[in-house]
Amino acid sequence: MGKFPGMEHFDVIVVGGGPAGMIAAGHAAEYGRNVLLLEKNPAPGKKLELSGGGRCNITNGEFDHREFLANYAEYAKFLFSPFSRFGAHDTFEFFENLGLPLYISEDRKRAFPKTDNAADVTRALRKYMAEYDVECRFSSAVKGLLIENGKVCGVQTRDGAIRSESIILATGGTAYPETGSTGEAFQWLEKIGHTIIKATPDIVPLRVKEQWVKELSGTALDPMRITFTAKDGTALFREGKILFTHFGISGPLILNSAHEVKKLLKQGPVAGAIDLFPKREINEIDRTVLAVFDDNKNKIIRNVTRLLVPAGMAKTLNANLPVELLEKKVNVVTQEERKQLARLMKNLPLTVTATMGYDWAVVCDGGIPLEEVDTRTMASRLHPNVFITGDMLNISRPSGGFSLQLCWTTGFVAGENA
Ligand SMILES: Cc1cc2nc3c(=O)[nH]c(=O)nc-3n(C[C@H](O)[C@H](O)[C@H](O)COP(=O)(O)OP(=O)(O)OC[C@H]3O[C@@H](n4cnc5c(N)ncnc54)[C@H](O)[C@@H]3O)c2cc1C
Repeated sequence: MGKFPGMEHFDVIVVGGGPAGMIAAGHAAEYGRNVLLLEKNPAPGKKLELSGGGRCNITNGEFDHREFLANYAEYAKFLFSPFSRFGAHDTFEFFENLGLPLYISEDRKRAFPKTDNAADVTRALRKYMAEYDVECRFSSAVKGLLIENGKVCGVQTRDGAIRSESIILATGGTAYPETGSTGEAFQWLEKIGHTIIKATPDIVPLRVKEQWVKELSGTALDPMRITFTAKDGTALFREGKILFTHFGISGPLILNSAHEVKKLLKQGPVAGAIDLFPKREINEIDRTVLAVFDDNKNKIIRNVTRLLVPAGMAKTLNANLPVELLEKKVNVVTQEERKQLARLMKNLPLTVTATMGYDWAVVCDGGIPLEEVDTRTMASRLHPNVFITGDMLNISRPSGGFSLQLCWTTGFVAGENA
């Protein structure tokens, strides 16, 4: 406090007690800095504790840097330096040293704490911060940056200004705002010259118009192929598990396609088509239909469809067939009508009208462009004592632990340089 009588002073102030902020604060303190962390919620890690369905998919067990970074597509070129300082391997070691060993699941190499409990991750990070004497203040919202002569020199809080040499911003993006990440720090950065790329929900479920989709809510089918086609004919194919919900479609396959579907939606509603049997040719399916029809000659089509499709899907198939055909006896169905049935199984139509919005998004893109950050240190190129981390950065990425690894990497590097 000595340097500025009457005003508190720290070497480093970290704004935001999410994963990026906690690792940054602990690491800056480990480097001997006097660190204050300010979090507006009564406790840190609110979003972190929701992660991975409460299990926390903490990183990905892909230990080849290049392979790992390929998941960040065009952003990868900015990330080589920070990832060579702190990559997925380091995350394993870091948490192991804090008494929280990780394991790699068979599902896309997603890594979790062995306890399968996200709250343990927050506990480990709190332990890390306590070990190096980070001062944490919860229920302490930062209102803005403290600026003198164009230089950032601290933060404004409800209880007055607090000075610091460095400021690490870790206030998150705009997805799931009820966890505290409401995006106000973007306005502070905009005021001091940064560009803010508008956020759009990225890893997010899709809203579908058709009622039959909603009626399948809770059903998951694997494998399926889904095709999305935009008005101009641009098409996107994806294969894997689709989860039907009361508003549309979800599950990892859909969440990770949303970034691309969003581009197609710019032209208007997107035509979707689900192939219920991606591994089988249409002629093969037709032969199966023929065999089922042979065994059920006197039944009406409505009562036979359940023998043709995965459990729970017969109602769906029926909802997509003309009533006249549904009421026909199998032995009077024409060859063309039978083929129509096979075509439908390969091409179940639906209409994607929108993505589900911020409240449903796991992450958003948008935020501070990487061109405005020196990613070797995570310092702003405009204000070298301001560091920007985690979800505040404009980086699209798939699910699978790639968001949290960005927090560990950028937070650690910022902590080291602040
Ligand atoms: C439901 C869900 C599941 C997810 N699952 C996974 C997963 O399994 N694996 C994965 O890699 N990623 C997952 N993610 C994404 C991951 O949780 C985020 O990428 C990560 O939490 C971002 O960390 P952060 O530290 O940048 O920001 P946040 O976690 O958003 O933390 C920011 C913190 O800053 C605080 N804050 C904001 N403004 C202020 C202010 N003015 N003053 C003081 N404090 C402030 C907030 O209260 C908040 O605590 C999931 C996200 C969601 C929503």
